Amino acid sequence: MNQVVVVGSCNVDYVFRVDNLLQEGETIIAKQCHKYFGGKGANQAVAARKAGATVSFICKLGRDSDGDSYYEYLVASDISPEGLLKDINARTGTALVIVDNQGRNQIVVLPGANLHLSPEDMIPIAPDIFPGKILLVQLEIPLETVIAALKKARAVGMLTILNPAPGASLTPEVLELVDIITPNKREASILSGYEVHDLESAKRATDKIIKSGVKTVVLTLGALGALLKGDGGEKYFPAFRVKVVDTTAAGDAFNGALACTLAEGEEMSGAVLFANAAAALATTREGAQPSLPTRSEIDNFLQERGVR
Ligand code: ADP
Repeated sequence: MNQVVVVGSCNVDYVFRVDNLLQEGETIIAKQCHKYFGGKGANQAVAARKAGATVSFICKLGRDSDGDSYYEYLVASDISPEGLLKDINARTGTALVIVDNQGRNQIVVLPGANLHLSPEDMIPIAPDIFPGKILLVQLEIPLETVIAALKKARAVGMLTILNPAPGASLTPEVLELVDIITPNKREASILSGYEVHDLESAKRATDKIIKSGVKTVVLTLGALGALLKGDGGEKYFPAFRVKVVDTTAAGDAFNGALACTLAEGEEMSGAVLFANAAAALATTREGAQPSLPTRSEIDNFLQERGVR
């Protein structure tokens, strides 16, 4: 059973392309508008599914047209529908993204229904309802819900992965519930209190995070790759050299692939290698969910690079 349970956010992103960003009080004409399905929870659920896992995703959408279209899209992406909850009292999480000719942006986010995902909604994380070996959760939902999910997963013997994004400082009570934490440089800086900008500072930060109660740290280092520290010691994985087009959702590709391969029984070092490859592939394509690689793409990439 290579089942992964993902708990997290869904946002519908409306991206407007404009010549110049808005000034106060200004109304401008956009050149284009596209709608994208995003949110770290959904991105990671789809990443794990595309990497080959069976995925239950627990999230909260609004009872509105965006919620309906997101639901249909997730089901079409082969995510099991039972955890896709709807809230009558909130709008589906929505982001308004304005991007100018130079790629600069202005963003407004309404978390909406994501903030209504409650600790009670985590009760079904159990072998008879949402079974799984791995729980994967991020921080775009209420912290009490994250804690409830981690506790429930621990109670039923699942391995817990926390992607601490967006960055936040976390108490030892939360960190002790986490088996594997996957911060990027910024998030690791917040968690450890050390500015992470290179491999040396990353090593210092992982040591500090381990001391706060997490068993294993996988620090993603963007173009530098990833650093693993855990029971088996420390290991650095340089990034795969690829032609980078857009790094959006690279971290989500990494987390989804990591959860998938761990659910298959891969050991930590092999799992980080697999995730590093999936994330590198995601940077070679535009967008968030459309850029996430499939299992055969990841396997072929590793074979071509002579790693597997
Ligand atoms: P986030 O997207 O959460 O900010 P990172 O920037 O650390 O996270 O990137 C996550 C992972 O994506 C990295 O650990 C690496 O595997 C991959 N990655 C990111 N940037 C590159 C790059 N320029 N070349 C190859 N792989 C990359």
